[in-house]
This record gives sequence, structure tokens and C-alpha cells, in this order.
Amino acid sequence: MNQKIVIIGAGQAACSFAARLREHDPESELTIIGDETSHPYQRPPLSKKYVTGEMEAERLLLRPLNWYEDNNVKVICDQQAVSIDRDNKTITLSGGGSINWDKLLLATGSSPRALPASIGGALDGVYLLRSVADADAIRSELVEGRRAVIVGGGYIGLEAAASAAMMGLKVTVVEAAERILQRVACQETSGFFKNLHQTHGVDIHENSGLDRIEEKNGRACAVILTDGTRIETDFVLVGIGIIPNMAIAEAAGLEVEGGIKVNAHCQTSDPTIYAAGDCAVFEFNGLQTRLESVQNAIDQAECAADNVAGVARDYTPYPWFWSDQYDIKLQIAGLNRGYDRIVTRVGDREGSLTHWYFAGSNLLAVDAMNDSRSYMVGKKLLEAGRGLTPEQAADTSLVLKSLL
Ligand code: NAP
Repeated sequence: MNQKIVIIGAGQAACSFAARLREHDPESELTIIGDETSHPYQRPPLSKKYVTGEMEAERLLLRPLNWYEDNNVKVICDQQAVSIDRDNKTITLSGGGSINWDKLLLATGSSPRALPASIGGALDGVYLLRSVADADAIRSELVEGRRAVIVGGGYIGLEAAASAAMMGLKVTVVEAAERILQRVACQETSGFFKNLHQTHGVDIHENSGLDRIEEKNGRACAVILTDGTRIETDFVLVGIGIIPNMAIAEAAGLEVEGGIKVNAHCQTSDPTIYAAGDCAVFEFNGLQTRLESVQNAIDQAECAADNVAGVARDYTPYPWFWSDQYDIKLQIAGLNRGYDRIVTRVGDREGSLTHWYFAGSNLLAVDAMNDSRSYMVGKKLLEAGRGLTPEQAADTSLVLKSLL
């Protein structure tokens, strides 16, 4: 009998799961439920080429629309899965209908954290950036000569800052932590990007709490920092992190702990329900870990699909990330958690630079700025479970490729 397989969520993880499952199993009934109007699309360009208008919506689609028909994948758009009944194996939809499943994937992703309405987070002219609809709204604000305040100096904030600055806006970034990119990168990489933005005219306020957003006629017109600084603006973009979407899993009685808990086979505490991507938390190097990245959404979802199809295997992530800002491509391989030493290496091409993260003499990760070659070497070494010593990383006479 054909299995009924349902995916809740219609992002990168959902799409990767569906494609991989179809490689094993062309027959099962496969349904994706998404609460946006579009079929699955890629989010990384939203803060870059899409928001600036250099890329059209159609190019965001992860698969062309006919792929779903050709592969017998049903996509239910614009509807939320509101509850999961595990005893009867049904899902209730916001439109009133319900759908049965034998195996279920939770690819519910995450939602951007918003500023509280009490400090102006719900005013007109205050934006989050997660969906095409968000990016469309922000696009109309990106007009040369206008002013933008960006709250949060993480990837979203900095990529949006670069996009706005390149379009001729006067941009200010407000970061609560001691330095921008603090959650994801070392001081050296933060400093590199701070300098990069400043040379493009962006004002960066680090270690700066936001007190409130001021309004005029219901619309944001200035931000007030906790030290009293007042920055006038035409709009505010908020990029202060994400929250995993796990309410539906929690309500269904699945184990959650800062995400939906899954084992190495991507199974939740109910073995017929799997989870992958931003919403899933799993053990990695002895610690409960949630990875917010395209790499994880793809690889974990593919692993879940293999397991659903009966090809049992454990998920081992090989994290990588990237970010484009101005003419700099940042590529990161590995996870820098627990580092105690950074080695900076100037690359052999003009402007190329890498920061290598070590715990003792163990290589953990590398940040590469316009240095794809070093990034590739670092990534391959990490994937092979090998490394290089801090001395080798520092030795610019050593051809890194020779280590492979
Ligand atoms: P993020 O990387 O967590 O960065 C958010 C930053 O905002 C943090 O530095 C945070 O500091 C700061 N912050 C928090 N509350 C604040 C406040 N009230 N005022 C000022 N600053 C505040 O998250 P994000 O940049 O919003 O990105 C959202 C998600 O999209 C993440 O999963 C990110 O990885 C992903 N994304 C990835 C890419 C990429 O890989 N290229 C690009 C875009 C987005 P604390 O850490 O101290 O809270």
C-alpha cells in the first residue's frame, strides 16, 4: 500500500525532503503544506539581490512549478497546519479541512523575532525580513537619499545594510551586543565587516540598547537608544534573530528543547514524525544543537527522507555558511563553538583573508573573505576529520592545497 507522507512547512527543508524522497519512492502520496502563497522558494537572496530589485520573484523558486506536477507532489499553499492528532494520524488545516498521514515531516522553520509593540515594534515603517512579502514591502522604502535604521547586526541586518547603502541610502546599524556578528564570528571577522560597512558610509553603533522607536502620525520616524542618542530615520528594519516554529509539535506532545528534538535519524519523540531544518534540535559533538542554515535545511531533510524511505543512516552535519556584502563574499566552513585561538592568514590574491578557529591545536572552522580557495581547503579538511595546525595556518609560504 502506498504511504501517505505529509510535510508541514514549505521552505528549503520541505523541498529538499520531497526531491530526495522521490529519488527513492515515486509512488507514495506526498503533500507539502505551506502558509505562504508561493511554492517553496529560496530565502538567501531576499536581503540581497531580491530586495534591491536585481532579481525577479520567479528566480527565487527552488523548483519550477511543473516539477511538482511531474513528480506527483501536491502543494497546499496559503494554509496553516493548526494541529496534529497523533492517535488518528490527522492534521487539521486552517482552511477547515484535514489530511491523513502515515509519516510526517515537520519542516516548520523559524520566525523572526519582533520588537515589542510597547517600544514601537508594530508601527508602520518597521519591518522584519523573512518572507517575499517582507522583502517586497522593504523594496519600496529603498530609495536613494532616504535614511534607514537597522536594528541588529547579524547576517540579516548587515546584508540589508549593504543592500541599502549600495542603493544610496544613509544607513545606521544598532547592535545590542558588544560587536556585530558576535553570535556567529570571532572579533577579527566582526572587525573586518565593521570596517567594510564604515567605508561604505554606514554608521555602526555597537553595545547599544534600543530604548524605543518614536512615531509621527503612526509611522516610525526616529529610534532612541538607551544612552539617549536619537537617530532620525525614514524606516526601521529589524533583524534580531529567529525563533524556531515548534508550537504545533509541542501541542502534539512531542519533546522540544529550544527546538523540536530529533535523534540521529531525524525522528522526533514519535518515530513516525520527523523534523529537519531551522526548527530541529539534535545532538552534535555532544551538545544539543540547532543550525540555522541552508546547508542544514538541505542535508538534514535529505537524511530524514532517506530514513523515511527505509535507508537508515545517521545525520552528521558539515556546516557551511556564506554571506555576500558589497564586493565581499564571506564563506564559513565548520562550527566555531568552543574556539580559544584565531589565526589570521592573508591570502595570495589581493584582499583575500582567512580567520582560522582552533580549540588548542584542533581546527574547528574557517572564515574566508574573498578567499574561496582557502575556504575549500578548510572545508575539505574538516569534512575528512583532519585539520591543519595553527602554525601551518599562519605559514603563508605553505600552499594550503598541498595538505589535501
Ligand atoms: P542573528 O544572526 O541571530 O543576529 C541578530 C543580531 O541582533 C544579534 O547580534 C543580536 O544580538 C542582535 N540583537 C538582538 N536583539 C537586539 C536588540 N533589541 N537591539 C539590537 N540588536 C539586537 O539573526 P538575523 O541576522 O536576524 O538573521 C535571522 C536568521 O537568518 C538567522 O538564522 C541567520 O543565520 C539567517 N540568515 C543567514 C544568512 C546567511 O547565512 N548569509 C543571511 C541572512 C539571514 P544577541 O546575539 O546579543 O542577541
